[in-house]
Amino acid sequence: MTETRTGGCMCGAVRFEAKGDPFDVTHCHCHSCRKHNGAAVVTLAGYKAGQVAFGGTGRKFHNSSPGVRRAFCGDCGTPLTWEGDGGELGPIVELHISAFDEPDTLRPTAHAFDVERISWMEVADDLPRYEGFPGVGAPLRHGPAGS
Ligand SMILES: [Zn+2]
Ligand SMILES: [Zn+2]
Repeated sequence: MTETRTGGCMCGAVRFEAKGDPFDVTHCHCHSCRKHNGAAVVTLAGYKAGQVAFGGTGRKFHNSSPGVRRAFCGDCGTPLTWEGDGGELGPIVELHISAFDEPDTLRPTAHAFDVERISWMEVADDLPRYEGFPGVGAPLRHGPAGS
Protein backbone atom coordinates (compact mmCIF):
# COMPACT_ATOMS: atom_id res chain seq x y z
CA MET A 1 0.00 0.00 0.00
CA THR A 2 1.27 3.41 -0.92
CA GLU A 3 1.24 5.87 1.92
CA THR A 4 -0.26 9.28 1.23
CA ARG A 5 0.64 12.13 3.52
CA THR A 6 -1.33 15.34 3.74
CA GLY A 7 -0.57 18.87 4.85
CA GLY A 8 -1.17 22.52 4.25
CA CYS A 9 -0.65 26.07 5.37
CA MET A 10 -1.65 27.58 8.68
CA CYS A 11 -4.98 29.06 7.45
CA GLY A 12 -6.00 26.07 5.33
CA ALA A 13 -6.23 27.94 2.00
CA VAL A 14 -3.51 25.65 0.60
CA ARG A 15 -3.63 21.87 1.07
CA PHE A 16 -1.46 19.16 -0.44
CA GLU A 17 -1.17 15.40 -0.78
CA ALA A 18 2.15 13.60 -1.19
CA LYS A 19 1.92 10.02 -2.47
CA GLY A 20 4.54 7.43 -1.55
CA ASP A 21 7.76 8.06 0.31
CA PRO A 22 10.08 11.04 -0.19
CA PHE A 23 13.47 10.39 -1.81
CA ASP A 24 15.04 12.11 1.17
CA VAL A 25 14.34 14.13 4.32
CA THR A 26 17.01 16.70 5.07
CA HIS A 27 17.84 19.42 7.54
CA CYS A 28 18.93 22.37 5.37
CA HIS A 29 21.16 25.06 6.84
CA CYS A 30 21.46 27.14 3.64
CA HIS A 31 20.97 30.88 3.79
CA SER A 32 18.06 30.86 1.30
CA CYS A 33 16.00 28.24 3.17
CA ARG A 34 16.61 29.99 6.45
CA LYS A 35 15.63 33.37 4.98
CA HIS A 36 12.46 32.03 3.35
CA ASN A 37 11.31 30.49 6.63
CA GLY A 38 12.74 32.93 9.15
CA ALA A 39 14.11 29.83 10.87
CA ALA A 40 17.49 28.71 12.22
CA VAL A 41 17.29 25.46 10.26
CA VAL A 42 14.70 24.13 7.79
CA THR A 43 13.73 20.46 7.41
CA LEU A 44 12.44 19.40 3.99
CA ALA A 45 10.93 16.20 2.57
CA GLY A 46 11.86 15.82 -1.10
CA TYR A 47 9.44 14.32 -3.62
CA LYS A 48 9.33 13.98 -7.39
CA ALA A 49 6.90 16.63 -8.62
CA GLY A 50 4.45 13.98 -9.87
CA GLN A 51 4.00 12.61 -6.33
CA VAL A 52 2.64 15.91 -4.99
CA ALA A 53 -0.77 17.46 -5.67
CA PHE A 54 -1.89 20.85 -4.35
CA GLY A 55 -5.44 21.93 -3.63
CA GLY A 56 -6.84 25.41 -3.27
CA THR A 57 -5.80 28.54 -5.08
CA GLY A 58 -3.79 30.32 -2.43
CA ARG A 59 -0.27 29.33 -3.51
CA LYS A 60 2.09 32.13 -4.50
CA PHE A 61 5.71 31.87 -5.62
CA HIS A 62 9.00 33.62 -5.15
CA ASN A 63 11.73 32.88 -7.71
CA SER A 64 14.68 32.66 -5.32
CA SER A 65 17.35 31.74 -7.89
CA PRO A 66 17.41 30.71 -11.57
CA GLY A 67 15.18 27.64 -12.01
CA VAL A 68 14.13 27.62 -8.36
CA ARG A 69 10.86 28.84 -6.93
CA ARG A 70 9.60 28.80 -3.37
CA ALA A 71 5.88 28.58 -2.65
CA PHE A 72 4.00 30.15 0.21
CA CYS A 73 0.36 30.80 1.09
CA GLY A 74 -0.75 34.17 -0.27
CA ASP A 75 -3.28 34.49 2.54
CA CYS A 76 -1.42 33.53 5.71
CA GLY A 77 2.20 33.57 4.48
CA THR A 78 3.13 30.03 5.53
CA PRO A 79 6.27 28.96 3.62
CA LEU A 80 5.53 25.67 1.86
CA THR A 81 8.08 24.47 -0.70
CA TRP A 82 11.37 24.57 -2.56
CA GLU A 83 10.71 23.61 -6.21
CA GLY A 84 13.29 23.05 -8.91
CA ASP A 85 15.33 20.63 -10.99
CA GLY A 86 16.34 17.45 -9.17
CA GLY A 87 18.82 16.31 -11.83
CA GLU A 88 18.16 12.66 -12.69
CA LEU A 89 15.01 12.80 -10.52
CA GLY A 90 13.49 15.43 -12.81
CA PRO A 91 11.42 18.25 -11.33
CA ILE A 92 11.20 17.98 -7.56
CA VAL A 93 9.11 19.54 -4.81
CA GLU A 94 10.63 19.78 -1.35
CA LEU A 95 7.90 20.25 1.26
CA HIS A 96 8.66 21.91 4.57
CA ILE A 97 8.33 19.31 7.30
CA SER A 98 6.01 21.29 9.58
CA ALA A 99 3.55 21.88 6.75
CA PHE A 100 2.68 18.17 7.04
CA ASP A 101 -0.25 17.16 9.25
CA GLU A 102 1.87 14.34 10.76
CA PRO A 103 5.55 15.26 10.48
CA ASP A 104 6.51 12.50 12.94
CA THR A 105 6.15 9.98 10.11
CA LEU A 106 9.11 11.53 8.27
CA ARG A 107 12.62 11.14 9.71
CA PRO A 108 15.64 13.19 8.53
CA THR A 109 18.66 11.33 7.18
CA ALA A 110 21.21 14.11 6.64
CA HIS A 111 22.18 17.75 7.06
CA ALA A 112 22.70 19.90 3.95
CA PHE A 113 24.82 23.04 3.51
CA ASP A 114 26.52 22.67 6.87
CA VAL A 115 29.01 25.37 5.85
CA GLU A 116 26.14 27.94 5.90
CA ARG A 117 24.90 26.83 9.33
CA ILE A 118 24.37 29.47 12.02
CA SER A 119 27.30 28.82 14.34
CA TRP A 120 25.19 28.14 17.44
CA MET A 121 22.67 25.95 15.59
CA GLU A 122 23.67 22.39 16.43
CA VAL A 123 21.42 19.33 16.36
CA ALA A 124 22.57 16.50 18.60
CA ASP A 125 22.20 13.63 16.15
CA ASP A 126 24.76 11.44 14.40
CA LEU A 127 23.52 12.12 10.87
CA PRO A 128 26.03 12.98 8.13
CA ARG A 129 26.75 16.65 7.53
CA TYR A 130 27.35 17.69 3.90
CA GLU A 131 28.94 20.83 2.54
CA GLY A 132 26.09 21.11 -0.01
CA PHE A 133 23.44 18.65 -1.14
CA PRO A 134 23.41 15.27 0.66
CA GLY A 135 25.18 12.54 -1.27
CA VAL A 136 27.29 14.99 -3.28
CA GLY A 137 30.83 14.29 -2.14
CA ALA A 138 31.77 12.78 1.20
CA PRO A 139 30.16 14.08 4.41
CA LEU A 140 32.16 16.69 6.27
CA ARG A 141 31.54 14.68 9.44
CA HIS A 142 28.84 12.86 11.41
CA GLY A 143 27.38 14.60 14.44
CA PRO A 144 27.77 18.15 15.76
CA ALA A 145 30.86 20.23 14.97
CA GLY A 146 31.96 20.33 18.58
CA SER A 147 31.97 16.56 19.07
ZN1 LIG B 1 -2.70 29.96 4.37
ZN1 LIG C 1 18.37 25.13 1.70
